[in-house]
Amino acid sequence: MTASTAPGCGLPFVPQAAGGELLGSWLLRIADVYGLSLRSFLSRLGAWPYPGRVLPHWFALRCVDLQLDLLANAVRLSPTELAATEPPGCRRHWPQELGLCLDCLDAAADLGQPHFWSRYWMHPLATVCRLHGTWLTPVAAKDLARIRHATDFVGLADRLRSSHEQEQWHVGEGPLDPTHALWLQSVCVDRTGELPPWGRTPVETMLRIVDTLARALMAAHAADPGQGPLGWCNESCEWSVSIFTLEGASGQRSQLTLPVRLRHRQKLLNSVGGVLRQGALTRHGLDVGSPALTRWLASASTAHWPAAALAWICPQAAELVQRQEELRVELGVSPRYFKACSALMAGAFAAS
Ligand SMILES: [Zn+2]
Repeated sequence: MTASTAPGCGLPFVPQAAGGELLGSWLLRIADVYGLSLRSFLSRLGAWPYPGRVLPHWFALRCVDLQLDLLANAVRLSPTELAATEPPGCRRHWPQELGLCLDCLDAAADLGQPHFWSRYWMHPLATVCRLHGTWLTPVAAKDLARIRHATDFVGLADRLRSSHEQEQWHVGEGPLDPTHALWLQSVCVDRTGELPPWGRTPVETMLRIVDTLARALMAAHAADPGQGPLGWCNESCEWSVSIFTLEGASGQRSQLTLPVRLRHRQKLLNSVGGVLRQGALTRHGLDVGSPALTRWLASASTAHWPAAALAWICPQAAELVQRQEELRVELGVSPRYFKACSALMAGAFAAS
């Protein structure tokens, strides 16, 4: 391969990207065609003109890291088309574990296509395969970081198939049904047109709701293990969590506090999805058993939620918020207001 490609002259051969393939996965496959490492490949194109800097891991590679015009010219795609293949912005780091669908890799192999990594699998909320409806298989980000060539995907998939990690995992007497987690993905990630029960909601607002509810469920469960929607989780719920900052297409940032391990995210997000779909926490055994959860939702940052959303999820919390608002209108933001709010919150749970 020549040092760089002249304008209008792309590489002589560029393998076609698989549907939904991640930018870094595709670039690894192109580099393999020319017998180069990803770094050498990008350097020779002039797309990575920084000899003294560390190239991001292939799965974290984003258009902003590269000389995009040179890369787009070489692979004969527009910068916009390339941008559609990059991973969602996630700062500061990725979850400790991501998930892949071995069935998707098998289906691609059956069609004669090589193994690849899907852009979709990079999202912290991706827990279920949207094609097969099955739980994604955990893979450690450090194992992904060890991948140097696209052919390494085959070995990775083989190891996952033969390891206990890929076995269907069970809760109680049967496998955990991923229906609610899949629904949550369709609303928050895929944006397939599926609406939450209270109506159309901007994705940033949905992520805020998911974040608050996820933290509330983890806090409620830590305070009272064995109760509520995570009550079936008999392992230690001292889950390691991290804050993931997602960058939306419009530049808006949303924060999600989630477990770093995939199995924990799957359990938690399935419960969050169940609460959002079915409403009223009472159905999940939480209103009676955990007034702390209602207090959390009433006092958490739910100000930007649609009123109908909080009323759907926890009517008691919505009522408390409404009464706090009435006090604010009556008393303004004054010491009397905060004193009255404290009394309101204490009184609301005095009988429980
Ligand atoms: Zn699949």
